[in-house]
Amino acid sequence: MMRIYLFLPSLIIVLVFSGCSVKSIKSSFQLPEISLEDEKEEIFLQKELLLNEMISSSKILHQISWPILKNNRDICYQDGSYSFGVLFATQTDLPKKDLKYFKKIFNKNIKSFYFKKYQVDSFPVVVSISQDSPAYQSNLLEGDIVLKISDLNVKNFRSKLKKSIRRSSKLKLTILRNEEIIRKEINGVKICNYNIQAIPSPAPNAYADGEKVFITLAAIKLARTNDELAFLIGHELAHNIFHYKYIKGSEANSLAINYNDAPKLKNFNSFFLYSSQAKEIEADLKGVEIAYKGGYSLDNVNDYWRRLSVFNPNMISSSSSVYKSNALRAIMISKTLKKLKNEDDRK
Ligand SMILES: [Zn+2]
Repeated sequence: MMRIYLFLPSLIIVLVFSGCSVKSIKSSFQLPEISLEDEKEEIFLQKELLLNEMISSSKILHQISWPILKNNRDICYQDGSYSFGVLFATQTDLPKKDLKYFKKIFNKNIKSFYFKKYQVDSFPVVVSISQDSPAYQSNLLEGDIVLKISDLNVKNFRSKLKKSIRRSSKLKLTILRNEEIIRKEINGVKICNYNIQAIPSPAPNAYADGEKVFITLAAIKLARTNDELAFLIGHELAHNIFHYKYIKGSEANSLAINYNDAPKLKNFNSFFLYSSQAKEIEADLKGVEIAYKGGYSLDNVNDYWRRLSVFNPNMISSSSSVYKSNALRAIMISKTLKKLKNEDDRK
């Protein structure tokens, strides 16, 4: 975990104590008539916005993280499932009350004939393809609709996907693209199998739980370059690789639209795993190496800390029991990076 900023309560206090008195509100307003239909329509618009934001943020993280996961395979000791560099969204990724929105948003151009033919309520959709990944080389495209996986229909898509990529390097998909049905056989590669996901939160923060890395939507918005996000991903991956030593991951567990997915507290000990400054320093230093090895120059990466300090001025120069100050973190990162680049020059 990187840091928690609690600026919401102060915002609420400002809202409560400003404006007109209760008395004048009582006598001067008339509640407009609001039908259930009005409310439903507005809820749909807000959910659609949320899901599109989850997808665009997941895509950013997916593009940045795939080369990092690929180039660090030698240190993550994972020898499980194959990776294809593709991110899917499927109906059951959503909470139960939102299942109805999936078809409306992601399957709206599919003719009803297909649902009957394949006996399913919805079809998974490809939301991201990493550059130079096996999926990219096989010309799988964003927006492709998955009609079949391993020659089966797409009911329980995630478990079928997980099973297939655990035992075989070949992923068989039947795709619908502009009314054309295309069969794909993609050859996977072994990489580090940690899932890098976006999570809604108004505070810039990042978390690791062993299996997954979560970067908050606020952190994604605060970052201005891929280098900055690559470092955040590297820091959290360092926790997963060196502190959790998690080895069972699968690309099938990467959830792009599940806005309720959150870091799991795997066991009681994991709660205390991070409450040490030594572990956080290690995650910063190893995080630089991990991101650099992923192909990111990280030249202006410390601009992130400088921008973050504006939101939390006391962290500029004060260290806590867990974190060094933002100033010290920036200096540590710069010096580690300089050393890495010097070593590279000597090679
Ligand atoms: Zn950390």
